[in-house]
Amino acid sequence: MSMTLVSVPQSRLLATAIPGPRSIELHAERLKHVTSGFGITLPVFIDRAEGAILQDVDGNRIVDFASGIAVTSVGASNPRVQAHVGDQLARFTHTCFMVTEYDSFTEVCRWLNEHTPGDFEKRTALFSTGAEAIENAIKIARSATGRQKVLVFDDAYHGRSLLTMAMTAKENPYKLNFGPFPAEVHRAPFAAPLRWPTGASHATAEALAAVERILTAEGPETFAAMVIEPIQGEGGFIVPSPGFLPGLREIATRHGIVFVLDEIQAGMGRTGTLFASNDEQVAGDITVTAKALAGGLPLSAVTGRVELMNAVHAGGLGGTYAGNPLACAAALGVFEAFADGTLVDNARQIEATARAILEPLLTDTSIVAEVRGRGAMLAVEFADRGTLVPRSELAKDIAARCHAQGLLVLVCGSYGNVIRLLPPLVIETALLADGLNVLRDVIQQVNAAAQAALLETVAA
Ligand SMILES: *Cc1c(COP(=O)(O)O)cnc(C)c1O
Repeated sequence: MSMTLVSVPQSRLLATAIPGPRSIELHAERLKHVTSGFGITLPVFIDRAEGAILQDVDGNRIVDFASGIAVTSVGASNPRVQAHVGDQLARFTHTCFMVTEYDSFTEVCRWLNEHTPGDFEKRTALFSTGAEAIENAIKIARSATGRQKVLVFDDAYHGRSLLTMAMTAKENPYKLNFGPFPAEVHRAPFAAPLRWPTGASHATAEALAAVERILTAEGPETFAAMVIEPIQGEGGFIVPSPGFLPGLREIATRHGIVFVLDEIQAGMGRTGTLFASNDEQVAGDITVTAKALAGGLPLSAVTGRVELMNAVHAGGLGGTYAGNPLACAAALGVFEAFADGTLVDNARQIEATARAILEPLLTDTSIVAEVRGRGAMLAVEFADRGTLVPRSELAKDIAARCHAQGLLVLVCGSYGNVIRLLPPLVIETALLADGLNVLRDVIQQVNAAAQAALLETVAA
C-alpha cells in the first residue's frame, strides 16, 4: 500500500492575518449553511495538518496546542494510523459488528483489556463517541447492579447527550434550554485543591465526608455507579487532591457501587502514564476511553470487569457504527505508536518544558493563580492573586492574542478563566518552546495592561 505523505514543516508561519482572507470567505459561507448552535474557537479553515502544525487555507502554519481537544495525540496525520486506515479503506468500510464480524474489533478490545488499570478479567464494548460510551457504562452498571442512581461531581463534564448532559455540571453552554434531564443523577463535591473553602490540605477528607453524607441520605444501596474524571477536562484541568480517588474507590467498593473512571480526555498517554488513574494506582471497575483512542477517527470504549460487562442481555448493547472498522484500524495504528513508550515519555518531557517556561509567571505576574496538570494535560488559571476572583476576560484576551500569533489554545473551566494546553505528544521540542514562549509573552503583556488599568482606577 503506497501512501502519499505531504510534509508540513514543523514551524509557525504567519502568511496573512489570522484568520486570513480565504478563511473569512469560507466562514461567511459556513454561516449560510451550518447551524449557529456550534461554537467556534478560531474561525480558520484547515487545509492539511501534520505533527503539531495546522496549515490553513491562507498558508498560515498554526501551532496546535489543542489536538482537536486531546484527540490527535499521535500527531495530526500519523503514518501508522494512515497505513492501517488506508489498508482497511481499500478492503471494506463497514459491516456493522452486530451483523457480521471483523477481527480488528476484537484486537482493540484485547489491547484495552490488557492495558487499562485493574488486575482482573475484563471485557470491552466499542462505540463511536465519548458520550455514547458513558451512557453505555451507566446502562451496564444499572443492569449489573439492579440499581438506578448515579453519583457525579462538581465541575464534571461527561458529554452532550441527554443522560451525559445531566451528568455534566456546567449549565451554560452545555445544558441551557435543553431540559428536562433524566432523573437519578446526584452530584458531590470534587476535591479541588485551589478553591477548597477550608484550604487544600482539607480537600480530600472533607470531600470524601461529603460523598458519604450524600450516599447515606440517598441510600448507598440505591447507587449503581459513581463516575469521575481522574483529572477533570472541560471543568478546568483540575487534578484532584491526593487520596481523593483512592478514597472514592474504597467507598464505592464498600457500598457495591460500580466505580467508573472517565478517562476520555486524560487517558491514552496524555498525562505521562498510559491512563491518568495509573498515577494513584486506582482502577475503575469500568474505564471509559475515547478521544485519543483512534487518532481522530470516532471510536470510544467501555472496558470493565467481565462479570459487569457480561451482565447485560445479548442485544442490549450495540450501535450501527459502534467500533467501525476504519476507527478500529486507526486505533491499532495508535497502539503501535504507543508501543515503545516514547510518546508517554514525551508527555512527561512536555510537562517539564512547560513548567520551566510558565511557572515563573506565578511570581512575575499577579493574574496567574495556578499552573497545574500532569504530563501534556496542563493549564494556567487566571484569577486575582490572593482573592482568587476569576478573570475570564483575561483568559479570553490571552487566547485571542495567541490565536493572532498562530498559536491555538483552548479556554476551559467552570468560570471560563483557564487556558489549557493539549499539544500532540509528538510535538518537536523547538516548536513546543516556540508556542510556550508566545503564550508566556502574551500573558506578560496582558498582565502589564491589567496592572496599568488598575493603577488608573486607583489614581482616578
Ligand atoms: C470529551 C469528553 C466526553 C464526551 O466525549 P464526546 O466524544 O464529545 O461525546 C466525556 N467525558 C470527558 C472527560 C470528555 O473530555
